[in-house]
Amino acid sequence: MTTASPAYETNRLSVIPLGGVEEVGGLNMTVFEYGNDMIIVDAGLMFPEEDMLGVDFVIPDLSYVVENAGRVRGILLTHGHEDHTGALPFLLKAVPVPVYGTPLTLALVQEKLREYDVATDLIAVMPRDTVTLGSFTIEFIRVTHSIVDGVALGIRTPLGNVIHTGDFKLDPTPVDGELMDFHTFSRYGEEGTLLMLSDSTNAEKGGFTFSEKEVRRAFEDIFAKTRGRIIIATFASNIHRIQQAIDVAVQFRKKVFVCGRSMVKNAQIALELGYLKIPEKTWLTIDRLRDMPDNEAVILTTGSQGEPMSVLSRIATGEHKHITIREGDTVILSAKMIPGNERSIGRIINHLMMRGADVKYEKASEIHVSGHASKEELKLMMNMVRPKFFVPIHGEYRQLAQHARLARNSGIPRDHIFILRNGSVLELSETGAAQLSQVHAGRIFIDGKDAPSVEDIVLRDRRRLGHDGIVIIMVGLERDTRQVVIGPEIISRGFVFEDASQEIIAEVRDLMNQTIMDVEEDVIADVNLLQAKLRARLKKYLRDTMDRYPMILPIILEV
Ligand SMILES: [Zn+2]
Ligand SMILES: [Zn+2]
Repeated sequence: MTTASPAYETNRLSVIPLGGVEEVGGLNMTVFEYGNDMIIVDAGLMFPEEDMLGVDFVIPDLSYVVENAGRVRGILLTHGHEDHTGALPFLLKAVPVPVYGTPLTLALVQEKLREYDVATDLIAVMPRDTVTLGSFTIEFIRVTHSIVDGVALGIRTPLGNVIHTGDFKLDPTPVDGELMDFHTFSRYGEEGTLLMLSDSTNAEKGGFTFSEKEVRRAFEDIFAKTRGRIIIATFASNIHRIQQAIDVAVQFRKKVFVCGRSMVKNAQIALELGYLKIPEKTWLTIDRLRDMPDNEAVILTTGSQGEPMSVLSRIATGEHKHITIREGDTVILSAKMIPGNERSIGRIINHLMMRGADVKYEKASEIHVSGHASKEELKLMMNMVRPKFFVPIHGEYRQLAQHARLARNSGIPRDHIFILRNGSVLELSETGAAQLSQVHAGRIFIDGKDAPSVEDIVLRDRRRLGHDGIVIIMVGLERDTRQVVIGPEIISRGFVFEDASQEIIAEVRDLMNQTIMDVEEDVIADVNLLQAKLRARLKKYLRDTMDRYPMILPIILEV
């Protein structure tokens, strides 16, 4: 299936998205090839959709770059979001090349690589720096987005200039005061741009995306009206949002508690690098929450997508060590409800409200603005850069199609616009551009931490079923009383249990029973949440006791 690209032979530039053009906000990764040189822009993951049972996250199928590893000159990162960086540990295991990015992006990546025990050269660049990798000279161009330190790329090739926008919006009043570099984009427009790849996330939305500063006003409104504790959930990487929450907390003379491993870690990194500014004695450790008057406490945490194991989820179901929701608390979900997560988020909101909290969320309040450009901004970008050819990226087909329509309306001829699929090869030459061939592309499901080796990446799912097998936990609950009436039955196929003693199976059964008994009432009332708990508990147990990672499928019947 995999073919060497014809770019290998002559004066041709190939552009190959390996992910990001069939999904919104996931798997972003694009390969550029000229002659014998290859560069990779971003290598992102995607979080599983609700029907992908037993999966932690998804990465692009890397076999094409793995097979061409010897030609890869470097990896360039546009920003630190996981949908652009999350596949790096896996990619670097197979393709150990230097990685280029801005300081915050690299600091976030460094942390992840350490977790996975992967090392490589991380080379920090600043906006307007240039780097030469084989036939490519790449310039980093500052953009505004929902994470600080984002850049677009200006890529000079022997055939002409390419602009890859990364994720962006045109924020005229960014929280950190670092404006988008309009000047450089216009310079490319004047020089002539062969091709632009641009962010399509909000290509369906008219007008302009609000500035991040708008969120501050919404926060101020809520802070002014609230007497109780305020809990704000957002993405750990959204340093701007965290900064704004802290600024408003200071303005209202409140103290801030940061809760959750990833949020604490990111805040520390951003603080050390100077991207986050917190006045002294504002950030307190969580154990001091107990002594704090309600009207002085602001808690920052993750879990805005309803992730079952997140801090917010544990707070919502009464399982958090330090935080118990009570009447008077206000919870702000300051993030977009990502499509596919609505059910999980709705569940968390229900639990929080049942416990007496007032919950503010996207649909009911202005507490989130998007990090992506809407139609008018996309048109402005198109007018600044004035590309000859155009490829919409970062979206599902419908967003790409809307963006393509905008491009046509901005004067780019129909046959100069290409809506690509993952693995499509767009070839540019002196005579034009065409989509002629296809390389192998797809998705790899990752469960657990181990970064698979080269062959593993391809064989992994098959091997995993063959090697570590599958464990099914079946539990029947009486619909009303929530008493366990069936099981827990432990059924396994191809897993070590088959030749293990009955003792181990009995132990697992006890463990599952205990887990069910330990959870709070509203967890047991919630099949999805209970499934997540059982799975997490058993996964940890099998990892700790046997170092095995079977696929685990909890099935809960209501009888
Ligand atoms: Zn993105
Ligand atoms: Zn992003």
